[in-house]
Amino acid sequence: MSESSEVIIVGAGPVGLLTALGLARQGVEVTVLDSEPEVVRSPRAAVYFHTTISILKKLGLADEAHAIGLSSTEFAMHWLETGEVMRSDMRDALEPGQEFDHNLHFGQHILAELVIAHLDHLPNARVLWNHAVKALAQDARGVRLAADTDEGEVRFSAHWVIGADGARSTVRQLAGLPFEGMTWPDRFVATNIDYPFLDFGFGYANMVVDPDNWAVIGRLGRENLWRLTYGEDAGLDEQSILERLPERFAAILPDPSVPYRIDNFSPYRVHQRCVPSFRVGRVLLAGDAAHACNPCGGLGLTGGVIDADALSDTLGAVIGGRAGESVLDFYAAERRRVFLEVTSPMSANFKRLLSEKDPARRAQDKAEMFAQAEKGGAEVRASSLAELIKGAPMPVEPAVA
Ligand SMILES: Cc1cc2nc3c(=O)[nH]c(=O)nc-3n(C[C@H](O)[C@H](O)[C@H](O)COP(=O)(O)OP(=O)(O)OC[C@H]3O[C@@H](n4cnc5c(N)ncnc54)[C@H](O)[C@@H]3O)c2cc1C
Repeated sequence: MSESSEVIIVGAGPVGLLTALGLARQGVEVTVLDSEPEVVRSPRAAVYFHTTISILKKLGLADEAHAIGLSSTEFAMHWLETGEVMRSDMRDALEPGQEFDHNLHFGQHILAELVIAHLDHLPNARVLWNHAVKALAQDARGVRLAADTDEGEVRFSAHWVIGADGARSTVRQLAGLPFEGMTWPDRFVATNIDYPFLDFGFGYANMVVDPDNWAVIGRLGRENLWRLTYGEDAGLDEQSILERLPERFAAILPDPSVPYRIDNFSPYRVHQRCVPSFRVGRVLLAGDAAHACNPCGGLGLTGGVIDADALSDTLGAVIGGRAGESVLDFYAAERRRVFLEVTSPMSANFKRLLSEKDPARRAQDKAEMFAQAEKGGAEVRASSLAELIKGAPMPVEPAVA
């Protein structure tokens, strides 16, 4: 059996689905293939910066995202050893022309389901579950794919293929691309817990600085569930991590005598990695398939959503005859540049800041952060992460849907 589609996107994660919606809204025929039977629901990213909300608005998703999500403006940095807290509010440092003065918090699986509900209304878009892509070949005219399904192997052909199949991307491997970079020596443990953080001066988004008991703590959405991520010895197996968890929480939580409920627990390895090229002929990569970073700072999915927006604009323009293929090279080079020059170093620096072992460097970091917070306004804006990770605009006019 063989099927064809103008564009095939491998991976129905948030990046693949948003790219599909961006293309389908321009009239492009899109097929999304995913190896799983439904949206992956494991707890992962949950914070959408204001720049991401602007992209959701462009796709007609902002109202629903606001109806679902928790609006948040405050960030707090806590120093465990001294109890000091530095607070900032993004409303004090708005960018000129900034559309939204807040971030939104809700699980990425909820975003994926929201996008699918919109794709379901478009006759030129479809999502096929239980399709594990395993082979790929391309020539000047198009790309051929093979996927394993419950009914056996199915073959597809497309003019363009997008690999949005996550950090272990099969498309990246089939395109012959290495995933260059490093893996952090410690393990990250993502837990979802019910705990009254607001009663202890925590904001909706927090970082805890400590050489041993550093943590990232953020509320996951409207219900009182929080993601508490901390670092653990990579030599420990999952059972040992679970056994040590009460001891670790006792050191991290502001009052460990207050009961907490663990809703989810997931230790994982974290990388700073990127492909040497986001484009190989008619195969393009986006999201975690192209780049991976540690979650301190919430930059992983943010970068992927910006990829999705840039790629649907550029590929849509090429398919619609409004631009030549060179805009795809622009996409590939610019999104890689932003990852290597901005996203990866910043996320790595967040991780260093949180877990800095040298007391003198830790003191210097703290002094610099308080000084920065005092300045506020324009000087804070100049280093605004959300703006830097947007990168240069794609050299195409977005199509009118
Ligand atoms: C525990 C955890 C916590 C995280 N926390 C944060 C956070 O707080 N902030 C943040 O910004 N980021 C976080 N991340 C990272 C964030 O989840 C990713 O950046 C995001 O999921 C990337 O989206 P994606 O669509 O590129 O890939 P994914 O969400 O990984 O989606 C890839 C899809 O491809 C499918 N697929 C894979 N292989 C194939 C194949 N061969 N054929 C067909 N389909 C295939 C998969 O089933 C999946 O649906 C976290 C990640 C983890 C694991």
